[in-house]
Amino acid sequence: MRKKIVAGNWKMNLDYTEGLTLFSEVINMIKDEVTGSQQAVVCSPFIHLHSLVQLGKDYNKVSVGAQNAHQAEAGAYTGEISSRMIKSVGAEYVIIGHSERRQYFGETNDLLAKKTDAVLKNQLTPIFCIGETLQERETEKHFEVIKSQLLEGVFHLDETAFAKLVIAYEPVWAIGTGVTASAEQAQEIHAFIRAEIAQKYSQQVADDITILYGGSCNPKNAAELFAKGDIDGGLIGGASLKSRDFVDILKVFN
Ligand code: 13P
Repeated sequence: MRKKIVAGNWKMNLDYTEGLTLFSEVINMIKDEVTGSQQAVVCSPFIHLHSLVQLGKDYNKVSVGAQNAHQAEAGAYTGEISSRMIKSVGAEYVIIGHSERRQYFGETNDLLAKKTDAVLKNQLTPIFCIGETLQERETEKHFEVIKSQLLEGVFHLDETAFAKLVIAYEPVWAIGTGVTASAEQAQEIHAFIRAEIAQKYSQQVADDITILYGGSCNPKNAAELFAKGDIDGGLIGGASLKSRDFVDILKVFN
């Protein structure tokens, strides 16, 4: 059985103290309420990472991740953070290729392929994000866009490396808009992604990889989305900033 994961993406929210408070609440609720084998991942800003890892180190149901990493190991890249640094504080995941990074920071599939390599080289798990814009969906290009994001971003990996990824499907038109993809729309794309992976690698790799849905996912719609056969959890933005909502989404897998 593939891993069920609910990952929170705090984006650029919460100061240091607010972040620690939220994370402590999440841990306490998980301890009391989560009964299944699902995994929570909290992807915080860099400044929180070390402290969150320390706070969470006795709770194996909660892992910590970053939201970005530079593709180089080290060097003269003022203001950047490498995968090696993220690894050194004990974080385990890194979101790569979030649509906000693609859109506002010009990150291309080629660059994201290099970032993915750097993350894997440091024994971290990439949460690799793909998804179409509204215009791409309205012009029926969504399958094509998803396919090229996979092809150019992660299909250069060999099978062993690829099997370590988590994929997140996040339709750009559903992010932060309150408009969620219907469970059927999300399932259709997740099944497509899994089929592409089966074709490129093997049915086994496709069956074992965790594919998350992201985009206005909340405690009200999570159960319907996660009930679909190819949706293995969520990548949660806004609702991950409220401990109650985040843990309620996680509890869908109880
Ligand atoms: P929202 O849940 O706020 O729509 O954000 C989704 C997202 O971008 C998670 O990475």
